[in-house]
Amino acid sequence: MTACRVCGTYIASPTYEVPAPALTSIMTLLDAPTRVFVCADCGHAQSDDIPDIQAFYDTGYRISLNSEDHDQIFAVAADGTITYRTDHQAALSLRLLELPKNASILDYGAAKADTLRKMTVARSDLRPHVFDVSSDYAAAWQGWVPEAAQATYSVPENWKRTFDVVMSHFVIEHVADPVGFMRDVRDLLRPGGTFLFSVPDVAGNPGDMAVADHLNHFSQASISHALASAGFEVQAVDNTSFPGAFFVVARRVEEAVETTAPAAAATDAAKKAHEICAFWDQASETLKGGAERYARRKVAIYGAGFYGSWIYGRIGEAVDVVAFLDRNENMKGAMHFGIPVLPPEDLPAEAEALFVGLNPLKARAAIAAQPWLQRAGLDHVWL
Ligand SMILES: [Zn+2]
Repeated sequence: MTACRVCGTYIASPTYEVPAPALTSIMTLLDAPTRVFVCADCGHAQSDDIPDIQAFYDTGYRISLNSEDHDQIFAVAADGTITYRTDHQAALSLRLLELPKNASILDYGAAKADTLRKMTVARSDLRPHVFDVSSDYAAAWQGWVPEAAQATYSVPENWKRTFDVVMSHFVIEHVADPVGFMRDVRDLLRPGGTFLFSVPDVAGNPGDMAVADHLNHFSQASISHALASAGFEVQAVDNTSFPGAFFVVARRVEEAVETTAPAAAATDAAKKAHEICAFWDQASETLKGGAERYARRKVAIYGAGFYGSWIYGRIGEAVDVVAFLDRNENMKGAMHFGIPVLPPEDLPAEAEALFVGLNPLKARAAIAAQPWLQRAGLDHVWL
């Protein structure tokens, strides 16, 4: 039994439960089971707390820290033009926010704050502030955020009720108490100030349900409920501009807000969450069978991203994984869990089976398009 992180309702039993290892969003394995609980009352889905959460974010979680230019690719256009994730986030944030001239804006859970930095390039009048629960990122803030506008571990008391805008990109999915987090943000905003945040949309990206350090898997219904409980009025929920994510704009209000989301919306969200959990249950069973069939034999995994890493976590001890195959040029020559990442056409001849670690909605077409993966005697194992 557990309490819903959004509405507090008791949830009797998990909808999804698999034994260790669990996989984190930064592709590390944790020695802990994965359990997902679905709240029928508000449509929220949630995972268990991860062990030693503070140390994980303080020193263990270093996203995009390796080089100044490292960024995740958001999209590649037909002509080969690459859009990076933080460029897209910055443009989208500027479009969703109606920022007054000289607005004070705080990036809360900023990490390197690339999104805010890019916003200030487009809007030099903005007054940027940053906060994170780690000091790892301070070097990335130097030169464009004034010293007095930087905070680590705790927020200065005199920042309260001052900001025109607080934004938080891909942070709230990680926090154990999302409503408490939103209340803290509200305290930092001036009355009428705006909160912009992004979180994964599990319905648009089912892989999110199995990410161990994503403690929250929001639906539109649970977002509305959480914001109302924290003293915000929802202004916009955009789940199309960034596929697989919600971008949400809300306003700090002084009067109480009705917290009850429409029952039908919560019921639909809970139903969708159950379907996604059923998919992962099925995938676990499939891999159990695959691992038994190929015990101690040589196999390859297609995809070194989340799905492929998740497969590795389930079969890596039972079979001999000789390679990850991945089309991503940036991964060429890399090692993942101590195993080489190769271009797909370099599939090692000794591999007897290929475990396909791609979004299941796109997997079959992607594999069918590559003749070198159709070798006689090579078995495909699908999620
Ligand atoms: Zn709930």
